[in-house]
Amino acid sequence: MRLPVCLALLLVPWPSTAWDTAPHQRITKAALDTMPRRFLDRLGTEATPLVEIYCIYPDRYEEMEHFGFVRKSPGPRTVAEIRQYCVRADGRPVHGATGDRDVDTGSLVFLFERILTNLSGNRPAEAAKYAGVLSHFIADSHSPPHAVAPEELLDLAEGVNVHSAIERSLPEFTLRGRVPHEAGAHILTAAGAILEQLYAGAAQNRKNLPSIVKAACGRDERAMDVYRLRAGTRAAEILADALYTLFHAAETGQ
Ligand SMILES: [Zn+2]
Repeated sequence: MRLPVCLALLLVPWPSTAWDTAPHQRITKAALDTMPRRFLDRLGTEATPLVEIYCIYPDRYEEMEHFGFVRKSPGPRTVAEIRQYCVRADGRPVHGATGDRDVDTGSLVFLFERILTNLSGNRPAEAAKYAGVLSHFIADSHSPPHAVAPEELLDLAEGVNVHSAIERSLPEFTLRGRVPHEAGAHILTAAGAILEQLYAGAAQNRKNLPSIVKAACGRDERAMDVYRLRAGTRAAEILADALYTLFHAAETGQ
């Protein structure tokens, strides 16, 4: 009965949570490792907290805002510290793609504009914090059980939370020398192109979901790692191209 129960879980809509902390950090690091040195130099010492702390901001914001939970690890202690990075001017939180094209474009443009403005103004800490939220947004939008609601993901037969089973880990990986490139000539066209790539990745993940859930229900970590790596790698590639576009624009004064 276990497999039918697991497969039935595929029929529910969009999730609200996704990758755990370590996968976010690995995706961010893999993307930054492909950036030209001169771009990383613009971030200076902010590259490290971008990988370790800033890319978790949307989760930490939600935990503090909705549950009053403050992590013991280094990082923000209050909602007020990070609200400006995680919430748009219109009050809508920026976390992962919603599937609504207008909303998601608005969130990407919000982040792109602030990363570019702060890079151009030589404010690396600010740029890095928005870049962290961008990394989170891209990674969560691209997590494997993207079509599955977390509250539906409890395999009662085995007590396995399929969602967290899939997303709690991601092996370390690199983009193996992949060279990032511009996603668009202007930040608006780049935001549109990045969004299309996120939607395409999410569609592919949905296609793979029966196999992923089967692996999760069977606790087959090796099989899950194949899908985790595929999704994590693609997220890192998309992030690398988005950041490359913004660094390049800052450099050329676009
Ligand atoms: Zn998240």
